[in-house]
Amino acid sequence: MKINTFQGGIHPPYQKDFTAHKATEEAPLPDRVVIPLSQHVGAPNEPTVNVGDKVEEGQKIGESEAFISAPVHASVSGTVTAIEERKNFAGRAIKSVVIEVDPSQPEKWNEKRDTGSLEEEEIRQAAKEAGLVGLGGAAFPTFVKLSPPSDKPIDLVILNGCECEPFLTCDHRLMLEKSEEVVAGLELMMRAVKASKGIIGVETNKMDAIERLEGLTSAKNDIEVVPLEVKYPQGNEKMLIEAVSGRRVPPGKLPSEVGALVQNIGTTVALYEAAAMGKPVIERVITVTGPGLKEPKNLLVKVGTSIDKLIEHCGGFIASPGKVIMGGPMTGFAQEDLSAVVVKGTSGIVVFPSEDVLEETERQCVGCDKCVDACPMFLMPNMIVKYVKTAQYDKAELYGALDCFECGCCSFVCPSRIPHVAYVRIAKAEIAAAKKK
Ligand code: SF4
Ligand code: SF4
Repeated sequence: MKINTFQGGIHPPYQKDFTAHKATEEAPLPDRVVIPLSQHVGAPNEPTVNVGDKVEEGQKIGESEAFISAPVHASVSGTVTAIEERKNFAGRAIKSVVIEVDPSQPEKWNEKRDTGSLEEEEIRQAAKEAGLVGLGGAAFPTFVKLSPPSDKPIDLVILNGCECEPFLTCDHRLMLEKSEEVVAGLELMMRAVKASKGIIGVETNKMDAIERLEGLTSAKNDIEVVPLEVKYPQGNEKMLIEAVSGRRVPPGKLPSEVGALVQNIGTTVALYEAAAMGKPVIERVITVTGPGLKEPKNLLVKVGTSIDKLIEHCGGFIASPGKVIMGGPMTGFAQEDLSAVVVKGTSGIVVFPSEDVLEETERQCVGCDKCVDACPMFLMPNMIVKYVKTAQYDKAELYGALDCFECGCCSFVCPSRIPHVAYVRIAKAEIAAAKKK
């Protein structure tokens, strides 16, 4: 078997055994959900409901007329009890709709239509109406991604089945448990952008998923499953495109520059469900896991459910928690307040006990160049840090600060525990501010 990959990257401990073989369970319905009106990249939504309104599961509760945006829907049936600002997982205050959940919920999304005859525009509209965004965390509206400009035709759709972040297994479970939907969703995406080829890239620590998807696609000439080396950040768009097709996206450009479109596995399943059942993004599979949790699980969770409810459902903490991360440990957000809620882009919650969380003090760079060798974008993270520390942001830009996609490989290998990504973020903010002047 030929195994593809990219240059650079790292091999962190993957720790997926906590949940990789556990089938997805439905999380219990919470008493209340808090649904942020903005869960996407683009213009924020305004509420379309008022306090006191009765809402039904799947009802639109927020929307915007802007092109780059995605509506939000009630994830449960219940009563709107507040519309107010709440802090999201990143600590930002976002206007949110609070819904008290009705004890009995209607059965919905049982009927499927055949998606084989849907036209391009019907597929795009299904994605738009469903409020579909990149469920891998990027949260860019899928409808916009499926509307490439005419001067940038797409011939290749790539599904990201890498799930290269340690601990997370929700996409792995979807590839096993909803493999037909993965393939059907890929075919819808290919039709929407008129791509002639589809590739599903999967790391070889998920051989069961590779075999399952190969079994479903072996008779399809236009779809290929490509096994990939287990390496972080194999699932980054640029790394993935290069690994499966040999095409290299130029610095500062988008995948459409090389005729490619990359989508996450969860997004692909959700597109199929939107097109076949009219189901909006009201729930998603996430992995709740880590050495600090009693019973790690893969869970189907209603958008707006709080982290503490899910931790409780997983048996609670084993010992005093040291760190709770929303997302994966490489790119996720540490949580101070466990009332933060799951949103469309949440892929996991990882809990570490306090004994596993070391106090890291940044030390002097020792010039070992390990960060340079690890950087998959061929940047010199040590030089970017040097110029940020001396406020020479123009030089940080020359060293490619804007091309950094914040994977964290450099910090992971650095013996001096330098938090490069934090410096890169400062550089990006300063460069943007300078350009506005
Ligand atoms: S500089 Fe950016 S892209 Fe390169 S390894 Fe560090 S975080 Fe990743
Ligand atoms: S890995 Fe750390 S210590 Fe080594 S060159 Fe890079 S910044 Fe300096």
